[in-house]
Amino acid sequence: MAAMGEDWERLKQRIPLLEYLQRHHWTGHRADARSEFVGLCPLHEEAHPSFYVNPRKNLFYCHGCGRGGDLIRLVELSQHLSFRQSVVYLQEELAPTSQLLEHASGFYQLELHRYPEGIHYLAQRGLHDPALIEELGIGYARGGNLCPHLSALGYSLERLLQAGLIGQQGQDAFCRRVIFPCRQHHRIVNLYGRSVGAAFPHRLLPRCKGGLFAWDSVRHFPQLILVEGLFDLAVLWQEGFRNTTCAIGTHLTPAQLAQLYENRDRSVYLAFDQDHNQAGQRAVQALAQRLHQNRLPVRIVSLPDGHDPNSYFTAGATRGDFLHCLDQARVL
Ligand SMILES: [Zn+2]
Repeated sequence: MAAMGEDWERLKQRIPLLEYLQRHHWTGHRADARSEFVGLCPLHEEAHPSFYVNPRKNLFYCHGCGRGGDLIRLVELSQHLSFRQSVVYLQEELAPTSQLLEHASGFYQLELHRYPEGIHYLAQRGLHDPALIEELGIGYARGGNLCPHLSALGYSLERLLQAGLIGQQGQDAFCRRVIFPCRQHHRIVNLYGRSVGAAFPHRLLPRCKGGLFAWDSVRHFPQLILVEGLFDLAVLWQEGFRNTTCAIGTHLTPAQLAQLYENRDRSVYLAFDQDHNQAGQRAVQALAQRLHQNRLPVRIVSLPDGHDPNSYFTAGATRGDFLHCLDQARVL
């Protein structure tokens, strides 16, 4: 705990509160002869400035909504994050790997339209809506051409190596893969690459996989569909099931579980791949038990013939067919 405490003290020193606010488009002016700054409160709607910042003490206080504290408190309140999440958020602010990943992802997105194999693979997986492909930020990594692009933007090879975008020998981490950016609170925290060739199908950068996919856009639904893979999610979104989120794998991280538990009135439909060797079934059972024990209403969706949602739709299932499967889902 002591080490953690030092961490956040150092964090606050390295990001002065006033500087943080200004970087986030807050404008304040000096209040009288005091050393404080005053401006409109970023935490509540107001027409007259009542938000005070004391740069010496690194503290804020709003006379309008009565809230105050330090930088971490400000992030908690403005971004709706827990204390711990706010610390991570600020650490990212200091070493913005997310920006590097944003550049890599942008490059891959352009590349998708330069080589036919990426789009061809998406079509094969039943994904054809150009607006959705754009919305999900899907790209294509041909391999062997990321470094020159990122070097031109000023990134050193060491930075790329650190982020896991290239390997020790300088080779691209993603080669002949369709790329999905994984975002958390609008920042890219990882990239997922699905092989279009013979290589091992799934690859993430050696970093945290982040929370549940697109959590900010699905968290308000009273019913959630949880799937295993991003292609499952993509086809379900395409069919209008926008309440679908994805764990990227069957194993949920503590952060992902915490997201599901943040509202226990919500029910979760598990639509996992229930493959022939029973491993998938055991994984879904174990997860369902775990959610159930944590008082989360959970139902298990079984799709015919060992399908996963993606293969089910590419085999010709309709929205109605899937709705029927949801209706039939087993209550735990
Ligand atoms: Zn306020």
